[in-house]
Amino acid sequence: MRPVRPRWRETGGRPLEKQAKYNQEESQMDPRTMPDTASRQSGGTVVAVSPHADDAEYGAGALLSGYAQAGWPVVIALMTGSSHGRVREAADAAQVLGARLVVDESGQDGALEVTSARVRWLEGIVGGAHLVLAPHPDDTHQDHRAAAAITWSAVRRSAVNLAWYRTPSSGPGFTATVFGPITPSQAQARARAVAMHRSQSDRPYLTAEHLAAKDAWHGWLSGCEAAEPFEAARHLLAPGPLPVSAPIVEMAQRDVTPMPMTLGKV
Ligand SMILES: [Zn+2]
Repeated sequence: MRPVRPRWRETGGRPLEKQAKYNQEESQMDPRTMPDTASRQSGGTVVAVSPHADDAEYGAGALLSGYAQAGWPVVIALMTGSSHGRVREAADAAQVLGARLVVDESGQDGALEVTSARVRWLEGIVGGAHLVLAPHPDDTHQDHRAAAAITWSAVRRSAVNLAWYRTPSSGPGFTATVFGPITPSQAQARARAVAMHRSQSDRPYLTAEHLAAKDAWHGWLSGCEAAEPFEAARHLLAPGPLPVSAPIVEMAQRDVTPMPMTLGKV
């Protein structure tokens, strides 16, 4: 594995011919490996853990579509695949966002349990990720709390950024500290993704009015016109590339499939 080198904006004193060669090499690099957009060469992904179909879209749909539009590999990990009608809707929504859907088909809607097998399954997905998003641990829905606990354990040995997103049932412990500004194209993509959840069309929190109010309020808090709120659980600060820890490499190389899961298609 080749280490990621800093992307110099100036020559920094290096001979100009070396800088030209470096620039040529750099232009051939995958933009996702650039330190100022991705931080690591091992294929940093953005992973959203979604206890139910529609949670990731509600809490982070605009941000996920923004990452996908910028060329990042985006994965939505659906924890409760027991309801197959909703998995179909989740697959359609993921496709709209430009994300890949991964499903734990053993996860029971309403009775999601924190198990070591589930943690290992998610470890195999978040290993090497750049950013992991999940519902906040303080949530009135038991499945959301379980998803947060599984995520905490799954990232414990990985140098990944972890942020909680807001759900309609987030508790008072959720504190918006990080924001994702929403562009019109991101808002449109999220609206189309939310519309894919046909069985949830009567949910008041999925209406355009509710989402617009949420966007505007968190935009106000963050100095933007519209924004999605997050709480940083772990934010790695580094002047250069983030380190890739040994466990991440091990996990990325391990074939972790302790339970049925579907990649891409459902
Ligand atoms: Zn949910």
